[in-house]
Amino acid sequence: MQRFSVSSPSSYRLNPITSMATRSGSLIWFRKGLRVHDNPALEFASKGSEFMYPVFVIDPHYMESDPSAFSPGSSRAGVNRIRFLLESLKDLDSSLKKLGSRLLVLKGEPGEVLVRCLQELKVKRLCFEYDTDPYYQALDVKVKDYASSTGVEVISPVSHTLFNPAHIIEKNGGKPPLSYQSFLKVAGEPSCAKSELVMSYSSLPPIGDVGNLGISEVPSLEELGYRDDEQAEWTPFRGGESEALKRLTKSISDKAWVANFEKPKGDPSAFLKPATTVLSPYLKFGCLSSRYFYQCLQNIYKDVKKHTSPPVSLLGQLLWREFFYTTAFGTPNFDKMKGNRICKQIPWNEDHAMLAAWRDGKTGYPWIDAIMVQLLKWGWMHHLARHCVACFLTRGDLFIHWEQGRDVFERLLIDSDWAINNGNWMWLSCSSFFYQYNRIYSPISFGKKYDPDGKYIRHFLPVLKGN
Ligand code: FAD
Repeated sequence: MQRFSVSSPSSYRLNPITSMATRSGSLIWFRKGLRVHDNPALEFASKGSEFMYPVFVIDPHYMESDPSAFSPGSSRAGVNRIRFLLESLKDLDSSLKKLGSRLLVLKGEPGEVLVRCLQELKVKRLCFEYDTDPYYQALDVKVKDYASSTGVEVISPVSHTLFNPAHIIEKNGGKPPLSYQSFLKVAGEPSCAKSELVMSYSSLPPIGDVGNLGISEVPSLEELGYRDDEQAEWTPFRGGESEALKRLTKSISDKAWVANFEKPKGDPSAFLKPATTVLSPYLKFGCLSSRYFYQCLQNIYKDVKKHTSPPVSLLGQLLWREFFYTTAFGTPNFDKMKGNRICKQIPWNEDHAMLAAWRDGKTGYPWIDAIMVQLLKWGWMHHLARHCVACFLTRGDLFIHWEQGRDVFERLLIDSDWAINNGNWMWLSCSSFFYQYNRIYSPISFGKKYDPDGKYIRHFLPVLKGN
């Protein structure tokens, strides 16, 4: 293992591995965390194991084409995100192969598949990254219970975020901090600020006997039932850890840019060279470790004389992510208005025709429509562009429920993230966190300020090219 050394000792330690577990098989279950670098679950799975089974489960509900959906993709995810995920899996498989291992792809309901794996593979240890999303919380209890009942050791380290949201909630007296500033005060410095991260390996344990599990290679889009011409324009962002690390290196190569980064300043209409890093899809799938990103930023800040600070700095953006993860984890029904104690109860309108016009980029406001078409085609838009369309759908113009806008983003964004998406939708609709409901983004003049010549609008709405 090669450690990326920053200073001081590691914040998370490998528990002493019992003698029973040495010279045995382990299973690493990849879900997010699709990377080799800074992946504690992989460290735990590989250490002292004679065999290691790296498993990814394709859930047909999430991945397989749904012809009745409003745009290409499955019922849960647009085809851009499915492609991004497949690219990330291919990249992970190729990295594992270079280290003497490979990704074992299985298909089915993940809980059932995992139980089958544990029955067939007779491993002594199951490792997977801890996940705070409700879907995984429920799934993981089932899998953990089964594993424990059969004597399999379960190790589930926190590495998707800088902090463990449960620790912050505990430090704050059992409730999540509800403002960014109070979050910063409670959170302090993450332990990864001073820890050594394992960035690479010289080799990994080989795969053992896989029995009758029905293992396959990472499928192609076509094998999942999609056609090549599914989308007229695909997202320009390609998935995978290799891409993530390249993009990170490029984004932070200009130290002055990093030092002066200030959000919400920045041009939301810049699409050839976006004004922000576009690392969000890589953080979402864990192709990039947020802890490594954090350390890289710290190193740059040490080298420059002056730099911006949270909440506007680039490091401050990562802390917004932490803030939403913590509030989401500590708030029951975070993804709903009803039964959500931090969400204002607002009598939103029901208007399916208007909702569809917004979703399909057909409101008649070119700025709003271009942003929604960017979402359909690319699955990514600048933060302020997201502000504009979310404000327009909710408190700004249509007065439609934020949950309905959230659903459209959740399906189409390549960086779709349960905690961040719900948190920002509540913010933009003035349902929680932010309440200045009279501060509206004009669907006309705001766009004109950044895109006076209409370059962005004409790119995403080519029908306006002649105008
Ligand atoms: P950068 O500015 O380069 O920031 C670096 C990283 O910081 C991002 O990759 C992201 O992980 C984090 N970050 C930045 N802004 C925020 C923020 N406001 N809240 C939390 N984390 C942040 N982001 C998602 O990752 N997934 C979502 O599903 C999502 N839904 C959103 C919905 C709405 C209505 C709005 C207004 C914002 C949403 N965001 C979401 C937050 C934000 O717009 C994106 O994280 C950001 O635009 C991604 O681009 P970037 O990687 O270039 O960001």
